[in-house]
Order: sequence, then structure tokens, then C-alpha cells
Amino acid sequence: MITVLSGGTGTPKLLQGLKELVNPEDLTIIVNTLENDYFSGVYVSADIDTVLYTMSDMINDELWYGVKNDTFITHERLEEIGCSELLRIGDIDRATKIQKTQLMKKYGLTKAVEIQAEKMGIKSKIIPMSDENSDIKIITDIGELEFHDFLIKHQSQPEVLDVKFSKVKPADDIIDAIKNSRAVIIGPSNPITSISPILSLDGVRDALKEAYVIAVSPIIGNDSVSGPASKFMRALGIDVSSVGVASFYEDFLDNIVIDIKDEDKKIEVNQIVNKVIVTNTIMNNLDAKKNLAEIIINSIP
Ligand code: GDP
Repeated sequence: MITVLSGGTGTPKLLQGLKELVNPEDLTIIVNTLENDYFSGVYVSADIDTVLYTMSDMINDELWYGVKNDTFITHERLEEIGCSELLRIGDIDRATKIQKTQLMKKYGLTKAVEIQAEKMGIKSKIIPMSDENSDIKIITDIGELEFHDFLIKHQSQPEVLDVKFSKVKPADDIIDAIKNSRAVIIGPSNPITSISPILSLDGVRDALKEAYVIAVSPIIGNDSVSGPASKFMRALGIDVSSVGVASFYEDFLDNIVIDIKDEDKKIEVNQIVNKVIVTNTIMNNLDAKKNLAEIIINSIP
């Protein structure tokens, strides 16, 4: 078994490569739920849905959000009748979210996702990090913001001073998944808002210390490939570089993949992590995704 820790953009790109190489039954994906919330009456678990759509080949992989070729009839009608939505939810995507909201009431989030994954023909196991609702606040120079307000309404523009989130209980199977894995891959996801919430769950860090853990740096040079990761890292006093990423995961990390553009940082990263792989980590096409996935799989002892 290989377990992957995922957010909703960088790691799903890697999953597109991994799913071509690894037997789907041998893949478990633990997904961040920190940003989950209700919008227009439906439960939105953006990272989980991105992973569900990625694994079922439905993902809109230009936006890394929603379903490809989706329509927006409901969204547009809601706007017309004065009920505008912060999130642009497509019609097919909304159906997924309505189903999840209903299933959750009956069974909780983990089981709801399991049922949805099965209906989408996904053979890999997708586990939300928690069944509990969490709360995240971005502390900025214009005040305390909800995550989606920061990201969408304010387009990640405000200066970030701090990131705070509530503690939640891990979903049942997470620790066992990590313990029973040949390796745990931390994809190139936002270390602060996607991976840190998973690491903060009781028992996860201890389980990772016993596992073989490989991370891919989402930072190349001194910036994130996309999104506000560098802003969040800077606010928390973490060096925005592959060296900073290595330090952030230092207590359990065995192996890190850094980008070819960071070749000059290899020696410094190597002082923090035993094994450092330098390669192209920009996944802008399927070949690049498969290559990176293959390098990672081949590096597992
Ligand atoms: P979110 O949930 O949408 O914030 O997405 P993630 O946390 O999964 O991923 C965001 C991170 O992915 C950002 O920090 C990016 O730097 C990183 N990322 C996106 N695409 C790539 C890529 O092709 N290569 C690498 N190395 N990182 C990437």
C-alpha cells in the first residue's frame, strides 16, 4: 500500500501520474478537510471533490476545481434572482455536493465519500482527514478572514500575519493506513493549509516517524508554483524555499524531491533530509506527471 497526503491542486496533479503506475487498490489518499464549509446549503469539500474527480477522470484540470465541461445554469439563475454565490459551483459538481450533504447526514463524511468514490468507479481508498467540521481563519492586515473570503473575495491579496485552525479528531482509518503503507507520499501541496492540518491530527506525526516518507516540494526557487503557499509560509516564519519545506517536515521525512531549478540547494537540503532527488517537478502534462510519479515510486526502498 502507498498512502498519499493531499490538498486540492499540486498533489492531485501527481495523482494523475501515480494512478497510471500503481494498482488503484494499492493507493490510499488522505485528504485535507480544513476548508470544508456550507455554501448555498450544500457541503463543499473542495479538496475531497478534486481528488474524487481526479481519480475518476472528471476533473477540470485547468482550474483544479469542479468538473470538466460542466454547465453553470443553477449558478447563473441564482445570480439572476439575487442569490449570488461566493463559489462558482457547476451543475454536475453541485449534484455531487448535494449527494454528499445528504449522505453525510446519514453516515458522516468518511462513509459518504466512500459511497461516492464507489459510484464513480474509483478503486483507490479516499479518506477525508476528519469527519468533524474544522475552522480556519487567516489573520491579515485587513482583519481576520474566513479562508474562502481570503482566497476568492480578496484574491489572496491581503498581507498574511498568521493562520489559525481548530483541532479535529482524525478519521478512523488514517493511522492504520499510514502504519500499513510501504511509503507515504506528501505531494506538492500547500504545507500550511493542506498538509499541516493532516499533520496536526492526533497520532499522525508519530505514525509518520515510523513510516518511509517522501515529500515533493511545492516551492521552486523562492515562490510557490501557484496559490498563496509562500505567503502563508512567510507569515509563519518558514523560509520560502525547498530548504524551508524540508525543515517543516524534518522530524519524519526520509526523502524529498526538489526541482531541477533548485539544484544549488541540494547540499543544504541534504543536511536536513537523508535522501534528496533533484528532477523536474513541474507537472504541466501527463508525461511530466508520470515521470515524477515513477521517480518517486522507484525511490522507495
Ligand atoms: P489547494 O488545496 O488548492 O491549495 O492545493 P494544494 O495544497 O494541493 O496545492 C497547492 C500547491 O501546489 C502550491 O503550493 C503549488 O506551489 C503546488 N503546485 C501546483 N502545481 C505544481 C507543480 O506542477 N509542481 C510542484 N512542484 N508544485 C506544484
